[in-house]
Amino acid sequence: MKRLLLALMLIFALSANAEAAKISVPDKVSQGHAFPAAVTDSAPFEAVFAWRGESFRVQALREADDLWKAEMLLAMPLDARGQHSLMLTINGKTQSVSVTAVSVPWPESILKVAPKYVEPPREVQEQIARDVKHSRKALAVRTEKRWTLPLLKPVPGGVTSPFGGRRVFNGKPRAPHKGTDMRSPEGAKVLAVADGTVILSEAQYFGGNIVYVDHGQGVVSTYAHLSAFDVTPGQSVRRGQVIGRSGSTGRVTGPHLHLGLLIQGTAVDVMPLFSDPPHLVGGPTRSIFDNKQPAGKNRSAR
Ligand SMILES: [Zn+2]
Repeated sequence: MKRLLLALMLIFALSANAEAAKISVPDKVSQGHAFPAAVTDSAPFEAVFAWRGESFRVQALREADDLWKAEMLLAMPLDARGQHSLMLTINGKTQSVSVTAVSVPWPESILKVAPKYVEPPREVQEQIARDVKHSRKALAVRTEKRWTLPLLKPVPGGVTSPFGGRRVFNGKPRAPHKGTDMRSPEGAKVLAVADGTVILSEAQYFGGNIVYVDHGQGVVSTYAHLSAFDVTPGQSVRRGQVIGRSGSTGRVTGPHLHLGLLIQGTAVDVMPLFSDPPHLVGGPTRSIFDNKQPAGKNRSAR
């Protein structure tokens, strides 16, 4: 009898142990969108998320008495097509989860800016190269998760130029818009979208006065064209803290905030992450103006 009880207890223990961790990954995500990927289990565990050539070791955090969660924010790039595999290794066992990229008909914007921002003069090439180097270095930072969803809107104004549109500056085609332009008057407060650490704040050629905030796991928000800084590199900030004032420095046609969100170096549309839960399929997040109308005072650039 005692032996039977022991055997039963052993079987029970084994089956409890064998209970699979729960994986929550969307099967479809639009191009240029971020998506959360999560694993939950009833006991502590470690997960490795391998996505698009980079892998991340994530220690599960305790959510409740018997609920542990390892979570990451990942990006479906602007130009992604077809199926992509997320390789998840949980307690040493690897499995593949497929995520399909949904195509988005990106709009085109016609913009007019000062000629020096379309064909930068020779004397600023060195500064542009230095800006690129600084930004790349900041985007390569990988720290522990501090991001939380939904993100906070940094300014109250509407979108004047959405993420992802192909852009033609003074008749010359340039790279797609890697951020969202929001209406914001000169000097208005700009708030951090989530908790994080300031990893860059400087004057750049195209972005003007910029601030980069690292939210952990390669999630970085960027704020461009500021008129003033309220933070310095290395400073820890809370969601909603003032990081600077909006302005019209750099490649712009008027004062506004250019808000960027980079997920492990890949630019995504920040707008879907202001909703809870985030929008995973759809977009581009439309402008409140007709995207094709000629450049006006409040039109954006960069
Ligand atoms: Zn912009």
